[in-house]
Amino acid sequence: MTNSRTIAGYDFHCHVDLHKDPISLIADCERRRIFTLAVTTTPKAWPQNRKWTASCRYVRAAVGLHPELAGGRHRETDLLKLCMRETAYVGEIGLDGSPPHRESLPIQRRVFGAILDEAARLGGKILTIHSRRAAAEVIDQIGQRAAPGHVISILHWFSGTENELLAGVAAGCMFSINPAMAASKGGRAIIETLPLDRLLTETDAPFAEIAGRRTHSADVMDLVGQIARIRRQEEDEVRAAIAQNAARLFAFAALGADARKDMS
Ligand code: MN
Repeated sequence: MTNSRTIAGYDFHCHVDLHKDPISLIADCERRRIFTLAVTTTPKAWPQNRKWTASCRYVRAAVGLHPELAGGRHRETDLLKLCMRETAYVGEIGLDGSPPHRESLPIQRRVFGAILDEAARLGGKILTIHSRRAAAEVIDQIGQRAAPGHVISILHWFSGTENELLAGVAAGCMFSINPAMAASKGGRAIIETLPLDRLLTETDAPFAEIAGRRTHSADVMDLVGQIARIRRQEEDEVRAAIAQNAARLFAFAALGADARKDMS
């Protein structure tokens, strides 16, 4: 089990398997003691990611089906549901209503709904969720299908309106903040508004960029200071809150793991 006291930083959304050298990234996260959630975009990537992270202290793998791929890969939903029995962490999942993916929204909805229902049925799941141009609908689905208590939803790289943000908070969601958000006007408004007990950090590496280079899990270390400055709070206070929020998730995941043992 993850020992919160030794963790130096938190990257709750990282595409380890799309990095050019996943093995060295994982070794680096282990060495720096950065808790890193390795999200996946198809359940076919699950066995490899599970193998890479099986002996890790700080890196965990999540099984997912990315909304941008759901149109072509919706037949993998049953495989994903099977893999969900093996882990507390599910992602990347969600909806994408941006122009290139809008057409597949009806399929995306079916896939996302089925995953939320399975997560609620199994319980003890922590979800990392994409909601670009679909925030209201994603939050609505979470509210209807994935009540906190059974499932914890983390809205990753959230870019909705302030009202949508408040709706997400009311629905019990957590929010993972990345360096690209800290560098954008909209992102900074979200960072300022979020209640401290909902805040987590992520990188979305290798996709998010800062200062013209791709992000790396280690970027979460400086990010805490940036978040503190945006919120006009002490860095130690923000760091402690993130650690406390993460500890709550780990305790929730551990309860789910015990339940899985009891079932087997
Ligand atoms: Mn992502």
